[in-house]
Amino acid sequence: MSSKEALIEKHKRQGALKTPDVIRAFERVPREKFVAKDYQHYAYIDEPLPLFSGQTISQPYTVAIMTEALELSQSQKVLEIGTGSGYQAAIISEIIGPRGRLYTIERIPKLHEFATENLAHYDNVTLVLGDGIKGLPDKEPFDRIIVTAAADGLPQELFDQLRENGKIVVPTTDHKLLVVTKVKDVPIVQNLGSFVFVPLVEGEG
Ligand code: SAH
Repeated sequence: MSSKEALIEKHKRQGALKTPDVIRAFERVPREKFVAKDYQHYAYIDEPLPLFSGQTISQPYTVAIMTEALELSQSQKVLEIGTGSGYQAAIISEIIGPRGRLYTIERIPKLHEFATENLAHYDNVTLVLGDGIKGLPDKEPFDRIIVTAAADGLPQELFDQLRENGKIVVPTTDHKLLVVTKVKDVPIVQNLGSFVFVPLVEGEG
């Protein structure tokens, strides 16, 4: 068994990976292409790895938990804040398929460029350079929103850009991982437990 297959098996046993479409996405996306060159050998150990500018590609376990929490399906319109390497974006792209669309925002130009190269063959992904805290008002409403850096609680402007019954997954600076569903404009909040993320930073990089 390859180290990639072993990691996927471990996440299935741990219950982090459950849904066939999500498992298939993890099988298809080459994480080694999304990590810095010096770390390619470590792509399938279950750790976050350094990118540039003090940022990290999230731990595969965390990507699995967040992706399952999104409850994605084909053709959805999704927004990601914090493109980083583009790895999480590639996983989402595989699941929503050719009729879906993912918009992903990154504030650090060097990471935006790195992700643009990494995602060159993912035709349903649009990369945006800038501050994602205010979302993408001209593309709303979104079926799903994922924030991959820690926010101070639920960002109201992002919640407002969700469709009715839409979901946002967002880690917070007090180490919660919130899954919020919009039901009749009201946030129904679930906390998936303790995770640590780099913080969201306001303004462009
Ligand atoms: N999803 C990424 C993980 C990235 S880590 C991956 O799969 O590799 C979080 C990212 O959020 C960092 O790249 C950081 O620069 C970015 N970020 C932080 N604050 C932001 C903001 N306000 N707008 C857009 N991106 C932001």
